[in-house]
Amino acid sequence: MKYKIALLPGDGIGPEVTDAAVKVLQFVAEKIGLDLSYSYHLMGGCSYDANETPLTDATLSACYDSDAVFLGAVGGIKWETLPHHLKPEAALLKLRKSLGLFSNIRPAKVYNALLDASSLRPEVLSGTDLVIFRELTGGIYFGEPRGYDENKGWNTLVYTTEEVERIARKAFEVARQRRGMVTSVDKANVLESSQFWRKVVHQIHKEEFSDIKLNDMYVDNAAMQLVRNPKQFDVILTQNLFGDILSDVAAMITGSLGMLPSASLGEKYALYEPVHGSAPDIAGQNKANPLASIASIGLMFSYSFNLPEIGLAIEKAIEKTLGKNFRTADIYSDGMTLISTTIMRDEVLKSLEEIFEEKNSAVAV
Ligand code: NAD
Repeated sequence: MKYKIALLPGDGIGPEVTDAAVKVLQFVAEKIGLDLSYSYHLMGGCSYDANETPLTDATLSACYDSDAVFLGAVGGIKWETLPHHLKPEAALLKLRKSLGLFSNIRPAKVYNALLDASSLRPEVLSGTDLVIFRELTGGIYFGEPRGYDENKGWNTLVYTTEEVERIARKAFEVARQRRGMVTSVDKANVLESSQFWRKVVHQIHKEEFSDIKLNDMYVDNAAMQLVRNPKQFDVILTQNLFGDILSDVAAMITGSLGMLPSASLGEKYALYEPVHGSAPDIAGQNKANPLASIASIGLMFSYSFNLPEIGLAIEKAIEKTLGKNFRTADIYSDGMTLISTTIMRDEVLKSLEEIFEEKNSAVAV
């Protein structure tokens, strides 16, 4: 099987973290004999400078022609005063929409070596490893009618069977690769749209995924439980608005922005990107933390190449490297070894090599 990957390094630290991601991708592909081809394309401010648009048709068609897209980050002070449709961030929205990416996936995994970086107590946090599936193209952010006048403001919250079914399926499928639990978060005690959401999720569960443990939780309780006892969750499935809020809560309990990967999946296309932005304050200084990008490549192996064991090996390599006390500046604390982006990249590659060697010797035994 051959896979085509479109790489969009973007602006600021985007190219630096993309370099680390690509090195990991190449290393693993070579190790396991995966046939990969990839091509680089402009997107964001760099594309505006070259083409007067942040997303060209050529970049878009390279993405349409790919099995997976990797994006570094876009944006920067230089382009902030452009009209909205020419801003780098507008390209991001257009890309997500054009690729039909209806589910946004944000894992929140706590690495033991970084337990102290969170605002939660280590004993509450230790062992947390959850994934949030947020519906991305429907719900109250897109519903019509919408608007406001002098006396009132209004929005509409609508979900169709198809919209709920397709993201529920993705969440159940991923739960099957993980610990086999889905928590569907809604507000069915107050909202009819949530009663409908719940009905569709249960129908899909009964018909296709009865091996998965499903429970329902109201969103206010879910917010509380994420902070009280995050390790109870495996996969959280929820609508656009609730997912927007809960994924930021889950992200922050794990510590640094430089550690957080994401994936956005549609029926046909998939986009992988770190959660952070282009960090103009440290761009070009070899200081950026590449671990969010490297972890995003782990998600690509799990979700686009259907190799969750490789996704896990990449996570383990990150954990192992942190366990050797290597830290970029954003996660540095006393007693640790402060290293650059490129050294962190190389140290993760070394840890990966060790993991593959351990695996081979285990097989040989
Ligand atoms: P940011 O995520 O770029 O940076 C916030 C802070 O976190 C900065 O201090 C930065 O140095 C630090 N940081 C971020 N990523 C880091 C990493 N990998 N390693 C070490 N430190 C890191 O957010 P911002 O400053 O609000 O936005 C900067 C630009 O990025 C803006 O133009 C914004 O629109 C854009 N942005 C793009 C994306 C994207 O491409 N997906 C997401 C968010 C923001």
